[in-house]
Amino acid sequence: MDEERPLLRQAHVSHVLDTLHRPLRDLRISVTDRCNFRCVYCMPKEVFGRDYRFLPRRELLTFEEIERVAGVLVGLGVNKLRITGGEPLLRRDLEVLVERLARLGELDLTLTTNGALLASKARALADAGLTRVTVSLDSLDDEVFRSMNDVDFPVARVLSGIDAAAEAGLPVKVNMVVKRGLNDGSILEMARRFRGTGHVVRFIEFMDVGATNGWRLDDVVPAAEVVRTVGEEFPLEPVERAYRGEVAERYRYLDGEGEIGVIASVTQPFCGDCTRARLSADGKLYTCLFAVRGHDLRATLRSGADDAALEQAVRAVWERRADRYSERRTEETGELRKVEMSYIGG
Ligand code: SF4
Repeated sequence: MDEERPLLRQAHVSHVLDTLHRPLRDLRISVTDRCNFRCVYCMPKEVFGRDYRFLPRRELLTFEEIERVAGVLVGLGVNKLRITGGEPLLRRDLEVLVERLARLGELDLTLTTNGALLASKARALADAGLTRVTVSLDSLDDEVFRSMNDVDFPVARVLSGIDAAAEAGLPVKVNMVVKRGLNDGSILEMARRFRGTGHVVRFIEFMDVGATNGWRLDDVVPAAEVVRTVGEEFPLEPVERAYRGEVAERYRYLDGEGEIGVIASVTQPFCGDCTRARLSADGKLYTCLFAVRGHDLRATLRSGADDAALEQAVRAVWERRADRYSERRTEETGELRKVEMSYIGG
């Protein structure tokens, strides 16, 4: 039974468009709201401390439920699944979920991790069907990195996770969130370190996600400044986006030593091509990273409803979608009680 069903999902795709004619192509699946880091731009320790109430296990979607939701969204046109968290590798037996999702069809099945547990998990994830991995690393300077993850975690252990992923045959992207006055001095060393390795570094503008990271526009290092900084030492040229909805702006080194990317949600918003939905670990569907509320799919899942009903529920949400937060960002929108990034994944 299981062997047959998977590919059918992709064979019977009925695409859905939102109010801005954006298709649904990319689902980010948060499998836990917990993390072993306390990155200051995502999960500040002052808020996510000892007494913080994380989701109890019974409220988390099971792997079967996640597979059902993902299967329904693949049937609506999704061809990219990204497993996120919190820190997804904290969820036990994650390779079992990867194997289930890999059976849904020829998908881009990826994972975003802080790399802390990657060295021991990379092989099993690759064998289960993961197609690539993104590792967050905000500096190579141990002191700076420890100050950003706020749990005193060393760079070396993240680098060994990256090496293990590469050895397991997984293409690796490295995400660096740049915050002025904190790690902007690390931009060039990151470019130097990963040039010629095949690992693409993406520099991410510090964003006003959630309502707890104390975001200020002054702390944002514009993507253009990052490109200029790297380009002064290693000349760059822009690369065409590979597909609609690709988040990063890409630049290749003129000397052929690879690429970098910049994700400029603040200074060059890309909402017009946003094809992403997010599923929280407790089964709420969000149609924007900066949303204020989500749509509860868990109740539908646990009500005994069939996939047709689930598909109808998702279709109704997406067809009403009009999100363009980054294009409309103002001082006032900054005050909104937006959902926390650690809860729905970046
Ligand atoms: S702000 Fe929302 S709509 Fe715009 S690109 Fe980000 S997730 Fe998409």
